[in-house]
Amino acid sequence: MEPRAFGSFDYVVIGAGSAGCVLASRLSEDPTLRVLLLETGGPDDWHWIHIPAGLFYSLGNPRTDWCYTTEPEPGLGGRKMPIARGRVLGGSSSINGMAYVRGQAADYDDWLRTGNPGWGWSDVLPYFMKSEDYAHGSDAFHGVGGPLRVEEPRMRWTVLDDLREAAAQVGLPKIDDFNRGDNEGCGYLQLTQRRGRRCSTARGFLRPAQHRPNLTVLTRAPTTRIRIEGDRAVAVEFLGAAGPQVAQVQGEVIVSAGTYGSPQLLQLSGIGPAALLREHGIAVHRELPGVGENLQDHVNARFIQRLASGDTMNTRLNNPLKKMLMGIEYFLLRQGPMTNGAPPLSGFAKSDPSRGRPNVQFHATTASYESLGTGPHPFPVIAGGICNLRPRSRGFVRIQSADPSVYPALLHNYLVDEDDQRVALDSVRLMRRIFGASALAGYEPQDYMPPGDCTADEALLAQIRAKAWTAFHPVGTCKMGRDAMAVVDERLRVRGVAQLRVVDASIMPTLVSGNTNAPAIMIAEKGADMILKDRRASMSAVA
Ligand SMILES: Cc1cc2nc3c(=O)[nH]c(=O)nc-3n(C[C@H](O)[C@H](O)[C@H](O)COP(=O)(O)OP(=O)(O)OC[C@H]3O[C@@H](n4cnc5c(N)ncnc54)[C@H](O)[C@@H]3O)c2cc1C
Repeated sequence: MEPRAFGSFDYVVIGAGSAGCVLASRLSEDPTLRVLLLETGGPDDWHWIHIPAGLFYSLGNPRTDWCYTTEPEPGLGGRKMPIARGRVLGGSSSINGMAYVRGQAADYDDWLRTGNPGWGWSDVLPYFMKSEDYAHGSDAFHGVGGPLRVEEPRMRWTVLDDLREAAAQVGLPKIDDFNRGDNEGCGYLQLTQRRGRRCSTARGFLRPAQHRPNLTVLTRAPTTRIRIEGDRAVAVEFLGAAGPQVAQVQGEVIVSAGTYGSPQLLQLSGIGPAALLREHGIAVHRELPGVGENLQDHVNARFIQRLASGDTMNTRLNNPLKKMLMGIEYFLLRQGPMTNGAPPLSGFAKSDPSRGRPNVQFHATTASYESLGTGPHPFPVIAGGICNLRPRSRGFVRIQSADPSVYPALLHNYLVDEDDQRVALDSVRLMRRIFGASALAGYEPQDYMPPGDCTADEALLAQIRAKAWTAFHPVGTCKMGRDAMAVVDERLRVRGVAQLRVVDASIMPTLVSGNTNAPAIMIAEKGADMILKDRRASMSAVA
């Protein structure tokens, strides 16, 4: 069936996630520009999206989550990893842990050094600050008045305060702010929340813009193909309420469908590795071998320390009265454990002293479970995961069919690289040193995961492989750069295709040393700025 016409726009943004909502909001600030935002998922009108602890209802739930599964991961003993990604207005920012972390200045300086002018720390810092509404006011590193509220957590746990003390005893200093360029130390994570409610990009950026007459937002409208004529993107096909539809594009198509969705859509549209496209009967408009390659993710080596005593989430969840009180505390005061999403305490450290800068991050919480979907353990814990911030293992996203509704094959190759295995072993031993410090002695911590008798490299690595879990930070599949595998240039334009950009976490050439939501939002702020500047430049060239 020939798609029905759905009008003509200056910009069509595909994917209303962390990046897409920022782009739609910024581009539509100019009332003369007509902007269309297309999202596969539904509206964010479910209360659990906005209550931080509700993330445990969103994960694995097709209402809000794509519910991907990887191919058998060779570094995890052939285990298939379930992978959550937001499929709702706000994308992954509507289901994530809300930790606000930018990474290290050196991450961006590395991007600059490897052929990406304009992406050094001093270039990107103003864009982080532009978004921000920082609870403690503005300074040289933080902004106020932006759409993204950043606050301190509203709930602290005594056992985690003591863990922080223990980390200091083994040489990891206490710090209060991970977002000043050097994040070495241990502290509570800042959160993208406003008064105990989630501040997704749908809430922070899109909602205040949605009334604009020049902005059209369609949910439950998956994009199926970008139409390329000659060497330019000219239209976007999607499935709307009325069936297949097509929107014409006067200005640009901006792909913000995320690290799995963006390369899938480019491949479906004839942009990618030629052999892969031909295998699925797709005409090659532009051969770009890097589309879908270079997939990187943070994978956590999990740890659980069983405690003899202590107030923890496990103890509260296992007591019906305390469980009810947590609900009452949240609904009356917007305080308490229900304001926690991700594990609240984090630390950035060197897995061994020879590493030039912190190369591992741990997240610690007081809740634990055997695997997703099982209930809390019946004993108090400190639990969490520690990941290699700059892994060397690389994977891919590859279509398995020309049918857009068929999920692509995802393989991360977690822990396949030998150095990644070394870092995983060293980082578990680092955590054991912290748990052995005197500040925690009163809790009598015992190794539950990995078990205490697992000490030799081989046995410990087998345990790590068996229990490792994604930290949900995939990036890199439409990487920015100048080499043969680069997909976009430093202005995020798809190489060799006019009027087409990719603007989301997939453009990161390498992972940043931290969580990836704030960087995705920064990329969109900078992307929107570049799009508007390029527009003004081309208009004045014509005039
Ligand atoms: C469970 C979880 C916890 C996390 N915790 C944290 C955290 O605490 N802190 C942190 O910094 N980061 C965290 N992250 C990571 C962070 O949220 C992501 O890196 C970030 O949201 C990525 O932004 P994005 O714009 O690239 O993609 P997304 O936000 O995933 O947006 C992509 C959007 O595109 C839509 N889409 C895909 N294909 C199509 C199509 N064909 N047509 C139309 N729409 C389409 C998707 O439905 C989605 O809405 C977490 C992620 C998850 C999943």
